[in-house]
Parts: sequence; C-alpha cells; structure tokens
Amino acid sequence: MHWLFGDQLGPHFLTPGAGDGPGRDTPLLMIEARSVFRRRRFHRAKAHLILSAMRHRAAELGDRLTYVRADTYRAGLDEATGGGPVTVHHPTSFAAAGLVRGLPQVSVAPARGFLVPMEDFATWADAHGGKSLRQEDFYRWVRRDHDLLMDGDQPAGGRWNLDHDNRQRPPRDSATLSVGRPYRPREDDIDDEVRHDLDRWEKDGDVSFVGRDGPRLFPATRTEARAALKRFLAHRLNDFGPFEDAMLAADPVMSHSLLSSSLNLGLLDPAECVEGAEEEWRAGRAPINSVEGFVRQIAGWREYMWHLYWYFGEEYRYSNVLRHAAPLPGWWNDLDADSVGARCLRTVLAQVRDTGWTHHIPRLMVLGGYALQRGWDPAGVTDWFHRSFVDGYDWVMVPNVIGMSQYADGGRMTTKPYTSGGAYINRMSDMCGPCEYRPGDRTGEHACPYTTGYWTFVDRHRDRLAHNHRTSRAVKQLDRLGNLADVRRQERARGDGPP
Ligand code: FAD
Repeated sequence: MHWLFGDQLGPHFLTPGAGDGPGRDTPLLMIEARSVFRRRRFHRAKAHLILSAMRHRAAELGDRLTYVRADTYRAGLDEATGGGPVTVHHPTSFAAAGLVRGLPQVSVAPARGFLVPMEDFATWADAHGGKSLRQEDFYRWVRRDHDLLMDGDQPAGGRWNLDHDNRQRPPRDSATLSVGRPYRPREDDIDDEVRHDLDRWEKDGDVSFVGRDGPRLFPATRTEARAALKRFLAHRLNDFGPFEDAMLAADPVMSHSLLSSSLNLGLLDPAECVEGAEEEWRAGRAPINSVEGFVRQIAGWREYMWHLYWYFGEEYRYSNVLRHAAPLPGWWNDLDADSVGARCLRTVLAQVRDTGWTHHIPRLMVLGGYALQRGWDPAGVTDWFHRSFVDGYDWVMVPNVIGMSQYADGGRMTTKPYTSGGAYINRMSDMCGPCEYRPGDRTGEHACPYTTGYWTFVDRHRDRLAHNHRTSRAVKQLDRLGNLADVRRQERARGDGPP
C-alpha cells in the first residue's frame, strides 16, 4: 500500500518515479485522524478545506483507495494494513517524518511537490557557508539549474531582481485594484458533509475551532486548483508585480494569486506555476517584473523556506534570541477584530477571521510586526499563524514566523527585524486615513500603536540593533526623539488589550 498524507493530493504524488513512490496499480491509503484537530484550535475554514480536499481526492481515486477515519494515524494504519508494508513520500513536518520513520513497516520515498531535492539543497547550503545563507543566491541558483526565466546563462529581461519595480504604493484614487476577479470554487455535497461533521464535532465538545467557515474560498480539487491557476495567469499575473507590497482595505486580494493553499495541499506542482508564468512572458502577455516577481515567490521564497525548515533542524523552532516571552492575548487568539480600534489591524484580523488568509505584507508588517513589537513568545506566534491560516503548515510557518517575521533566529534568514511604525503602513496602504490613531503620533490619545510599539521595540533592543548596519540608524533616531519616557509610558499603558 502507498499512504498519501492530506497534503499530498495531486497527480505528481502518484507518478512512478525512479525507484520511489507507488506503482501504477499500488493500492492507496488515506487516514483522516481526528486527533490532529483535537490538539489545536484551528481556523474552521482551514479544517473544512483540508477535509474537503482529502475527501474529494478519495472520491476521485475510488476503489483504488482505502479511506480510514481513525483517532490517530497509528490506529488508522493498523486498521488498514494490519502491519503490512507501506510506502509514503517524505512528509512535510518533523513530527510526521518522525512518526513514519518510527514505524517499521513504512518505507519513506523522497519528498515531492518542490523543485529542488533535499540533498541538492544541503550540498548548495554547505558550499555557501551554512550559516550565512542568502535567499537571493539560492534563487539565482534555482533559476540557472532549472533553466527558469533564463536566456542562455543570463536572466531573462537582463536583471535577476526586479523588486525595485514592484514596490509601488496603492492607487490613491480607487478602493480596489482594477484586475480580474480571482477564481472562487462552488461547494458541493462533499462540502455539505464536511460542514455537517464539523458542526457535530464541535457540538460534541470534541474539538473547538476559531474563525468563520463561510462558503469555501479555496480549491479542494486538482480541477479547481488548475482553474484558479489558469485564471490567475490569464487575468491577474499582469498586475502582480507593481502592487505586490501594497494593501487596500476593501481589496484584500489585489493581484495576489491565492495559490498557496493549493500548492501546500499538493494539488498544484510549483513547476507548472512558474512555467505557466514564464510562458505568459514569452508570449508577450505579461511584463517581466510581474512574471519575475511571481517566479521569485515560488522558486525563490517557497523553496527556500521548505529547505531551511529541514536544514536548520528541529531545534530551530525554539529559537528566541530576543528573549520574547509574553503570551498572546485572548482577543488576538479569538480573532476578535471588532474589539480593535487601529484600522489596519482591525481590517487584517477580520480578513483572517473571515477567510483564513491575507497576503504577505499584512502577515509580515501588520500581524507579525505587532507581535514582534509587543514581545510575544515566537513559538506562540508560530502556533497562532499555523492554526489561523488556510495555507499554514509546520514547514512553512516555522521559517516564516521564527525567521522572517519574529527575528527569533537573530538573523539567520533576514538581515534585520521586519517591523515598522505607522508611517510604513500609511505609505503602503489606504488604511490609516479614517483611523482613530495618527501614524505620526507617538504619544497622546491618537498615538498610533505601531509607531509607539516600533520605538519601544528599538529601545528594548537598542544594543543589538545598534550593531547591525541596517538598523543602527533607527537607534540614532531613537536617541533624538526627545520624549522617549512618554513613549514608554504610552506603550505600558496599553497593556495587552486591543489597541
Ligand atoms: P502570492 O503573493 O500570489 O505568491 C505566490 C506564491 O508564492 C504563494 O502562493 C506561495 O506559495 C509562494 N510564497 C511566497 N512567499 C512565500 C513564503 N515566504 N513562504 C512560502 N511560500 C511563499 N505561505 C504559506 O504558503 N503558508 C504559510 O503558512 C505562510 N505563513 C506566512 C507567515 C508570515 C508571518 C509571513 C510573512 C508569510 C507567510 N507565508 C506563508 C508566505 C506568504 O505570505 C503566502 O504564501 C502568501 O501570502 C499566500 O498568498 P498567495 O497565494 O496569494 O501568494
């Protein structure tokens, strides 16, 4: 038998490889383990999406697949195989990898769903000094190695990195970006059944969820995911680049692809996404800055995060160089957006509550930035992101939160902590205008919590930041503030209640 985890759902997990994975007729097994949902308080839309995707895949595979509903993976495996031999592709978390390695009847084939094999990354990383790895170097290596967006040995369009063309502020004259609407799926009987089961589990007191489970917004099948990719490439890729970092309150998606959950469920293979984007450029249908930006996200960032998760090892998740230990407050855990006054945070927290998704800048600068400024425990922040986002899995959350967002690794992944005062949010969004707080105010009743939080963060970590050439200027600015004692008082008065 070959065992498919719930994030191994696409055809590329079934194509026979060179001596690995299932044969054409190998019987298949999927296990729906209730304990996974019992352990943590997940967003309900996430639980819905995963169960819907697994059950849709089971229906597609028909008699070839045994679908077991069990309390734990171990119990499901015993029930289905009685101890007989099983193969599985490398799972996506340390916990699941440890589980399958500890089961004598299971043999583990290499991972699928990523462009770069793990051994190749380890060789590259070792050759690049191990500790001071740079995403840009990795990305260029992947582009060359996979002949991706290349003209001979040169980057297509003449430049490797078009980030400078991709940092535009949002349009000031419009509440939305004028791009084609994203693909949205239609629910079916399987979704009804999932919703019914989740209601029952909650009613029985067996599990507890957070967030709204409105109509399903993300693909649960390969057909839906292909349709979403096709629609993005045809109607939205064009504008992906310029406004990649901008935020609009009334248009949370803007030109983002909404493909992360499909990629992470294994419904899409990253190769088809980046090759599809390249084709659009070669056919003259999309500009190079948008295509390069999109390829960088997938072939650069997504691959990089996957490999760093394994390369840095299991202990990386416990990194906490800033010694942040504060617990996440209840209103945050409950996604209680309505209790928040700061308009940016209220808007973004409501997006998470209602959809389980926001794009990368709200995650990094609004949510992650707020947590970092308040000194919340990075492991707790990682857990919160993991539970609250439809695309959250251990492998992708740990590096994104511990490294990228909370700087808990002291700079193994980024060159500086990512957090800012209200001025950045004001520049890159339309959220500040009607807000009760003013981005420029550090003290007083209109003091912006991001601005106060930013300066108190710089203050608390002044020694570390003064020795980093990318942040030393902030420390000098701090010393010129004049009213630092008032700023500290302002921040202390906030406590952990909603801002
Ligand atoms: P687009 O903006 O359209 O980008 C295209 C694709 O690039 C995404 O679908 C995704 O697959 C990939 N990608 C881009 N950046 C990253 C990245 N940093 N890590 C991994 N993949 C990336 N992404 C997740 O897939 N799961 C997560 O749990 C997750 N958590 C995050 C937490 C924080 C604090 C931050 C800062 C980022 C996180 N990201 C995560 C990365 C990124 O925010 C999401 O991939 C993206 O917002 C998903 O929306 P999209 O599909 O429209 O992406």
